[in-house]
Amino acid sequence: VTKSDASEDRSYRASYEDVGGLDKELQRVREMVELPLKYQEVFFQLGVDAPKGVLLYGPPGTGKTLMARAVASETNATFLHVNGPEIINKFYGESEARLREIFETAQRRAPAIIFIDEIDAIAPKRTDVIGDVEKRVVAQLLALMDGLKSRGQVIVIGATNVPDMVDPALRRPGRFDRELSINPPDMSGRLRILKIHTRSMSIDQSVDLEKLAHMTHGFVGADLAILCKEAGMNAVRRLLPEIDFTAGIRDDDLAKLKVTMDDF
Ligand code: ATP
Repeated sequence: VTKSDASEDRSYRASYEDVGGLDKELQRVREMVELPLKYQEVFFQLGVDAPKGVLLYGPPGTGKTLMARAVASETNATFLHVNGPEIINKFYGESEARLREIFETAQRRAPAIIFIDEIDAIAPKRTDVIGDVEKRVVAQLLALMDGLKSRGQVIVIGATNVPDMVDPALRRPGRFDRELSINPPDMSGRLRILKIHTRSMSIDQSVDLEKLAHMTHGFVGADLAILCKEAGMNAVRRLLPEIDFTAGIRDDDLAKLKVTMDDF
């Protein structure tokens, strides 16, 4: 499996602490994914089937990928990231073989999470599909999901912005039979997310995160992350000319290096 179709990078770790404003959703994901991956025997002993597939749906930038990564990191599972449109377009003609490879890799490196981003591109409703290729890819994905052992150590997380566009066959029992809607954050969610993204920044006491949370109605997590990053860059731009580098950075200069409210 090459890096482009299913990149497995352990270097990019995320923790539950990195996910803001999705406490209930994260709890559900942990029940559905972490428990079966970690305590397979318990499910086996009880005769309870763990889910094979979980579908996360909601607008872009709300943290679907982040949550999937966090669960993988926290359970030390292999994380295989598959991009729906890429597997269809880039590997046109080889899409099914790619999917098989990814599932094989996952089983070999179990416990594993296969994360399929924009799954609607791989598995659109078959009635809507013109080409035979897409039909075959959907069929392949269904077969691969059916082939996963019910108490196996591979869980597939699909993500989509348009759940209605996903082939209903994928949403039947034994496939993506758990669904979770991931919504844009409310006020307190935005505050949590702002705290997360300013955590490692040196911020001045003028920075009023609550006020920022109020002002950012409609922002999703990805927007808030960018907002914080830009504020940091604004601070750099503002402060650089003030520093006299000739004698190295002095302590009183260092003390000035803080992101202020105006930088946001
Ligand atoms: P898409 O549908 O576009 O793939 P997504 O829902 O998967 O979007 P992510 O890729 O997880 O969104 O979010 C992008 C980035 O935005 C994250 O890496 C993170 O920095 C930030 N972010 C998004 N949601 C949250 C959140 N709930 N808490 C903290 N950070 C978030």
